[in-house]
Amino acid sequence: APATVTLSDHFARTLPELALPWEAEPAPAPRLLLLNERVAAELGLDVDWLRSPEGVRLLVGEHVPEGVTPVAQAYAGHQFGHYSPRLGDGRALLLGEVVHADGRPRDLHLKGSGRTPFARGGDGLAVVGPMLREYVVSEAMHALGIPTTRSLAVVATGRPVRRETVLPGAVLARVADSHLRVGSFQYARATGDVELLRRLAGHAIARHHPDAGDALGLFRAVVAAQASLVARWMLVGFVHGVMNTDNMTISGETIDYGPCAFLEAFDPATVFSSIDDSGRYAYGNQPRVAEWNLARLAEALLPLFADDEEQAVAAAVEALGAFRARYDEAWSAGMRAKLGLPADADASALVADLQALLRDNRVDHTSFYRRLGAAAGGDPEPARELFLDLAGIDAWLARWRALGPDGDAMRRVNPAYIPRNHLVEEALAAATDGDLEPVERLLDAVTAPYTERPGLDRYAEPAPEHFAAGYRTF
Ligand code: AMP
Ligand code: MG
Ligand code: MG
Repeated sequence: APATVTLSDHFARTLPELALPWEAEPAPAPRLLLLNERVAAELGLDVDWLRSPEGVRLLVGEHVPEGVTPVAQAYAGHQFGHYSPRLGDGRALLLGEVVHADGRPRDLHLKGSGRTPFARGGDGLAVVGPMLREYVVSEAMHALGIPTTRSLAVVATGRPVRRETVLPGAVLARVADSHLRVGSFQYARATGDVELLRRLAGHAIARHHPDAGDALGLFRAVVAAQASLVARWMLVGFVHGVMNTDNMTISGETIDYGPCAFLEAFDPATVFSSIDDSGRYAYGNQPRVAEWNLARLAEALLPLFADDEEQAVAAAVEALGAFRARYDEAWSAGMRAKLGLPADADASALVADLQALLRDNRVDHTSFYRRLGAAAGGDPEPARELFLDLAGIDAWLARWRALGPDGDAMRRVNPAYIPRNHLVEEALAAATDGDLEPVERLLDAVTAPYTERPGLDRYAEPAPEHFAAGYRTF
């Protein structure tokens, strides 16, 4: 069958300075583990062809259509606050751009496709478990209505990968509005080539923020998109885990699901990543970190804001100043919705008091909001039983009930099913041993998160105590 994918090299042609032509390493024994038929169809890709040996070889980058040159993208970035002038795709490739059914282009990108000149000490590879984890969590995020890269497929390569033990290798094929990051701008700025920086900004405006007009408008649009994105993470209890500037997109999509995880017991200090010793990327720090990353973006864009440096800095400070108000507005509106309250309700004291109760009682974040829907309908017991401080929650419930919450509306915004850490780990362990059924069942649950279904009770429950206590991601 003929290849049914048309890939454009628009990025590589527009920004060759950021695009290093490179080829994927061949996979010794490729085997398709997961294919996202919905995403494939939206991209106009033939699902049967993708499942064929030739299609699977496209999904690992081994077979690319005639004339297509995959590229490793160059970027810089602050990792845990430390600047690296040259990061780039060390184990990833942009195959090219595909037109989505909505008429706009998408990046088709591979992760785990072998070493590139940006690999530094890395082996260029990825492992089945973490790639399935990115697939599951990104698709759950999408189902929760949160902007994110999408997952098209995971292919096991048949190549053993040396980590702490030897693990099966995999390639994730993912799809994004683009892979432009804050770090892309840091890289362009560091070259000293203002014309390149201008071309990059122009490309980002055309692709993501067509109404932005100029670089300052672009910056304002990214500030708004990120404020809204991080507010949504906070509302659903998502901890990204590695919010380095190379992992923050210009499009406003969530990207790079590494050590990410969802909160269970509500606590702003929650950290899952085993390498985040200082808690820099703790749940409650995420808005501050996003703002910090945006300050780095502003610094990179500075020469485009104004010829006069003082004027440029003043414009940047003013534009970045919108972040806090934008974030607060998005988060407060989201909290009112979670509580089933009208948009004009003044709920700030109610919300603050609730957060203290949730934290002090170590209440499961997702279960609480879901059960609160029943409390709106007159049955507070499922929510109450999560608390030790019954007098505290009863007083709070009385204040909340007086505002007339809408339980049906709550069930449309508070998910029953999220990719809970113990379920994800269980599914990945089974998949690593060759059994894909648990990961498929988990995907079924989390990709329709608002509709409770019989037989899925365990997907709605917090982890057993012994699991939750020391949970770490790598
Ligand atoms: P991350 O924080 O995972 O997004 O990655 C940071 C940088 O490390 C990026 O430049 C990645 O391409 C690179 N990288 C991560 N893992 C590997 C690997 N196994 N081999 C080569 N490069 C890697
Ligand atoms: Mg990254
Ligand atoms: Mg990563």
